[in-house]
Amino acid sequence: MAYTVPKLKDFSPAALDKAAAKLLAALEQEAAGVTNESGWKTFRDGWMARKSGVLTQVNDLWLKAAPKDAKRDVGQQVNELKKRVEQTIEAALLRAQGAATSDLECERLDITLPGIQRPIGAEHPVIKTMNEIIAVFRNLGYSVEEGPEIETDYYNFESLNFPPNHPARDMQDTLFIAGQESKPLRERLLLRTHTSPVQIRTMEKMKPPIRIVIPGRVYRNDPPDASHSPVFHQIEGLAVDTNIKFGDLKGTLDHAMKALFGSNVRTSFRPSFFPFTEPSAELLVSCFICGGSGQRGSDPCRPCKQTGWIEILGCGMVDPNVFQFVEHNGYDPKRVSGFAFGMGADRVALLKYGVDDLQLFFQGDVRFLRQFA
Ligand SMILES: [Zn+2]
Repeated sequence: MAYTVPKLKDFSPAALDKAAAKLLAALEQEAAGVTNESGWKTFRDGWMARKSGVLTQVNDLWLKAAPKDAKRDVGQQVNELKKRVEQTIEAALLRAQGAATSDLECERLDITLPGIQRPIGAEHPVIKTMNEIIAVFRNLGYSVEEGPEIETDYYNFESLNFPPNHPARDMQDTLFIAGQESKPLRERLLLRTHTSPVQIRTMEKMKPPIRIVIPGRVYRNDPPDASHSPVFHQIEGLAVDTNIKFGDLKGTLDHAMKALFGSNVRTSFRPSFFPFTEPSAELLVSCFICGGSGQRGSDPCRPCKQTGWIEILGCGMVDPNVFQFVEHNGYDPKRVSGFAFGMGADRVALLKYGVDDLQLFFQGDVRFLRQFA
């Protein structure tokens, strides 16, 4: 609202000055609130409208009402005020227009400019390899299961047929969570050393038959070097049903290796030992780099160490002792049988991409990783 001009009783120069100062203060305050042209028009009309604007009121209430002997002074004061009001209103218009122009400037859009390219991330070679392995087993009807990376001794060892003090526990340099000594051994927490605890966890919640693959991160107290890392990735599988035989294991893995490394690869099984499988085996595939000859031209083939075979995974028939831990959920060792297998996803990625240092996968150097994108 524009200013309401008061009537004057005292027309002395001092009283006039005081009244004029009040009016100018109101003018400045209102001018400061003007931000656009329509606001400015209201402002202008409030002060300059011929009929009832502030200046007309000043003319009527101050100049016309002044006694004869004060008319001269009041006339000068009113002229002064008129000039100030006009200047202020003019300045407010420029400000309002300026604000509008700079708003427009900000909104200006050149649609002919090329767009901003935002780089899209790509799958890490290890994750990519894991997904390829998962895809092979998905096509065979396997589903994916995952589990916690911090495990209890029970799931990581005991239920997988590693009794306390079993020598096989020494094969895995386990990272234990500190401050667990007061707990019973089976409840102590550790970083899982393999993805196998998920086998037990899944059998506890799903009745047979099951076919699952388990991808995940695992931890061992290995100092990092070209083929070791304290954090690495495993992917394993488990199939349980009635009447599963070693032949099913061989056929499944032979198919999977051909799907992963090419239909020309051959597979070979060698006896091995794992606490949770019996019998156990290592699976080898014929070297897909040298075609099994052990030579690359006149050079020896390094990935297969000139043998023509590459060790890919461990496997075996599920030990009946393992089933005893989940017997209550339908895994009667006399009725069901199954096979399990597990491989290091990082190692498979090294072989697939011909990388010779495992550390390169974990250093996060974009120059290295970009080539797999
Ligand atoms: Zn080779």
